[in-house]
Amino acid sequence: MTNGETTSRTDFIREIIDEDIRTGRFGGRVHTRFPPEPNGYLHIGHAKSVMLNYGIAKDYGGKFNLRFDDTNPTKEEQEYIDAIIEDVRWLGADWEDRLFYASDYFEQLYQWAEDLIRKGLAYVCDLSADEVREYRGTLTEPGRNSPYRDRSVEENLDLFRRMRAGEFPDGSRTLRAKIDMASPNLNLRDPVMYRILHAEHPRTGNAWCIYPTYDWAHGQSDSIEGITHSICTLEFEDHRPLYEWFLQALGIYAPRQIEFARLNLTYTVMSKRRLLRLVNEGHVRGWDDPRLPTLRGLRRRGVTPEALKDFTERIGVAKNNSTVDIALLEYCIRQDLNRRALRVMGVLDPLKVTLVNYPEGQVEWLEAINNPEDPSAGTRLVPFTRELWIEREDFREVPPPKYYRLSPGREVRLRYGYFIKCVDVVKDADGNVVELLCTYDPETRGGSAPDGRKVKSTIHWVSVPHALTAEARLYDRLFLKEDPDDVPEGGSWLDNLNPNSLEVRTCYVEPSVAGAAPGSLYQFERLAYFCVDPDSTPERLVFNRTVALKDEWAKIQGKT
Ligand code: ATP
Ligand code: MG
Repeated sequence: MTNGETTSRTDFIREIIDEDIRTGRFGGRVHTRFPPEPNGYLHIGHAKSVMLNYGIAKDYGGKFNLRFDDTNPTKEEQEYIDAIIEDVRWLGADWEDRLFYASDYFEQLYQWAEDLIRKGLAYVCDLSADEVREYRGTLTEPGRNSPYRDRSVEENLDLFRRMRAGEFPDGSRTLRAKIDMASPNLNLRDPVMYRILHAEHPRTGNAWCIYPTYDWAHGQSDSIEGITHSICTLEFEDHRPLYEWFLQALGIYAPRQIEFARLNLTYTVMSKRRLLRLVNEGHVRGWDDPRLPTLRGLRRRGVTPEALKDFTERIGVAKNNSTVDIALLEYCIRQDLNRRALRVMGVLDPLKVTLVNYPEGQVEWLEAINNPEDPSAGTRLVPFTRELWIEREDFREVPPPKYYRLSPGREVRLRYGYFIKCVDVVKDADGNVVELLCTYDPETRGGSAPDGRKVKSTIHWVSVPHALTAEARLYDRLFLKEDPDDVPEGGSWLDNLNPNSLEVRTCYVEPSVAGAAPGSLYQFERLAYFCVDPDSTPERLVFNRTVALKDEWAKIQGKT
């Protein structure tokens, strides 16, 4: 597992770029891009790629493009395009006026395909998809030549033009590069460049019924845009020789491709296919469910772009695949929210306290600090009355060893308030504690006793008559196991879903949060960070628990 301690700004990719600048390979230019396929919503792995590509462009005074790799109309939708644009912008990446689409290049790609045909480097093949696969061979066995491989240039040009004109049904023919069916690299065994697909494209509509494959579109799109460093994930390492072959065969500008390890996180899944299943099968509430690693989910949960940036910088870039402990992400979120979240008091599991010696009907407004990390956040007034809610776990009828919170006869401090002592316990017919009767010491306002006596614990509270009733959505990890694929034979990763990843509670919160806008970030003192959910109404706030205060990452680091 990555230890997260690498915060230095240099990495193997930047070293390569430094070298290219020194040797003048691209005339000193640095131009990167983020090339999403609009077939789903972005996740935190994409954020890593965006931050990396945009960060490099910025650091080197270069340029950054956003380009949609929209070559597969059966899976792509405008909805995803719009969402991706919004998410990349949210991350803070700026592509200025360079928003591109691979579909902008369809005509050019088509013309280049004809060029390859004319050079005898591409042919129309009538094998079905299954046959193409069968002829391809395996890692240990060479492939076999397609029976259509030696068609004449004229026949190929004619057939390819008729493919474009819509004369043939889906799947009946493909255009393939004529490379080497015996190559040890399967990607070079006459890869498909075009397939017939009578499908409407979100941008080009019905203008095309043949579509370029990703392999045929990707390198040329980078070339057209003058990308210098085409940064991608490791699975494209084996495709690099193919991209280079295409660019060389066409005799056009070639960027340098650099592969890095994709981000994997414990206790979650990242592939769009799996995220789609979680959404479609109702395991989560939607693409923006705060339990998902999607950027919409993280945003709704209360995670900021700055926290994601810190996280991606800490994990750095590597050449080997690894899995990052989700506790490191939670640590970065906590660090970030510690600086920006306003402190409030809220009670998630309420137990009523009545202060028997406090005057009925009296209200005192006590000064409370909004954010000890940020003096400019100021203070607020919190109402104090005879009836309070406290956290049920802050009381034990029989305190275990080292438990210093409230118990019969024990005195504690109320945050920003007074010392109180438990004098009696009210129970229901079943023997459950339903209320505590306490006394308060009027001499201890402000949290200390003039006689110097000490208490060992400070607990949070909310005035009963002033409390806002809110919904708290408490999220836990989506999967029970670090590796969701860790299942017995015949099992499914879905078997590892955590059935308790969402717990909904009714809670009480101090009145200062009334009317808080969705997205507002708070720390409920002693408990967790929370973010106001868009489901909130003026009558009832809804809070998403972003992350608990307890720092498991520090614990993990401390152990090693
Ligand atoms: P997924 O496998 O999750 O469906 P993808 O690779 O198909 O993702 P694309 O839209 O093709 O998604 O990815 C756009 C860019 O984001 C690519 O350059 C890809 O390398 C990068 N990327 C995708 N997933 C990750 C990840 N987990 N970590 C780092 N970069 C990623
Ligand atoms: Mg992809």
